[in-house]
Amino acid sequence: MSTSHVVPMSDGIRYMELTVVFLWLVFLWEMYLHIRQHRMFKEKNVPKNLEGVIGPDEFEKARIYGEDKSRFSFFRQWFDIIETTLIFALGGLPFIWDWSGDALESMGLMATENEILRSILFIYAMQFYQLLVTLPWSLYFTFVVEERHAMNKCPVLLVPILYLIMWSGPYFYVYVWAFVFCFSIASITVYTDYIAPMFDRFEPLPDSPLRTKISALAESVAFPASQLLVVYASNRSSHSNAYFIGFFKNKKIVLFDTLFKKHAKKSDADANVSSKQSETEERPKEDAKEEEPLFDADGNVTGTRNCSDEEVVAILGHELGHWKLNHTLKMFALNQVVLFTMFMLFGHLMHNASLYASFGFDSTPTLIGLILIMQFVFGPINIAVGFLFTLLTRMREYEADEFAVV
Ligand SMILES: [Zn+2]
Repeated sequence: MSTSHVVPMSDGIRYMELTVVFLWLVFLWEMYLHIRQHRMFKEKNVPKNLEGVIGPDEFEKARIYGEDKSRFSFFRQWFDIIETTLIFALGGLPFIWDWSGDALESMGLMATENEILRSILFIYAMQFYQLLVTLPWSLYFTFVVEERHAMNKCPVLLVPILYLIMWSGPYFYVYVWAFVFCFSIASITVYTDYIAPMFDRFEPLPDSPLRTKISALAESVAFPASQLLVVYASNRSSHSNAYFIGFFKNKKIVLFDTLFKKHAKKSDADANVSSKQSETEERPKEDAKEEEPLFDADGNVTGTRNCSDEEVVAILGHELGHWKLNHTLKMFALNQVVLFTMFMLFGHLMHNASLYASFGFDSTPTLIGLILIMQFVFGPINIAVGFLFTLLTRMREYEADEFAVV
């Protein structure tokens, strides 16, 4: 008997109903937090600890903007939860899955024999639907596109994963995990060496007292810094300070230019031009003529400084704390353990026909299994893991601060 035509026998668990109830519980909790947060925007007086930092006019502007955005997000979240509930209740997913099968057959292909092709079609149909649904919202307000349907957004990664799951037997999760692991290592390398320099200009920090101090700090904790760079990213980012990146003995310390100097706000058009101009690390300095250079010939910061040498060193001390205490590696390892466990659990659930039937499917396509199980059935696990990671990140920030002080 062929295993692909198992009659869906119910194991008595109402997977779909439980998923929807859980989504609503999370939603209501988030609404509670949202309403609490929203009350903050009603406060019209500048809070005491911001007095002198921000003027009343500036504060009022920020307040109104915050209030608008918060109200918008309130409606958006209600819309999303109702939409998701309806999709499940009315069988939207099986409907699109059937449609993609029909589409294949109308092209003269057997839907049952071309599951990968059908999955790709399904992903694009879902993306098209998402586009239609979110379009009115985007028109009304530029909204951050959330990663709710992250699975649909990376067909490049998805196709090899589907192949691996379908053809590598019961221990597929070992292969899938190994594949994702290699992919993430490779993408870090490609990102730092090729992608990041396309968007921002990286230049070595010139010889200066600061450079000497940083080198001394790196040496004192035996940090294998191969390069000390400044990234000119002030047009886009005002949050980050410094980071390091790379493997083993080939690490780069990267400082953001905002550490040295506050840039006058440029228009977006200017920002686009300058990021297009700065395409490579080796870009000759003459090109930057219109811009006042950040450092003078002696390596000192020109104009008014943002952070003193000591402050920059302190920030780096914190970042080096993360490295010395192996935070980056531990976090990466933990991520891998979580990923491996999820794929393993998925392996045990993916042939459970009653789960698919509960969501309205009469077969067990691998892609549908991935979406239903990883995104929705594992919802409680995802939330717990997310909470644990936030907690760990917090603890690690304190640890790194402590390290920096010592
Ligand atoms: Zn930190």
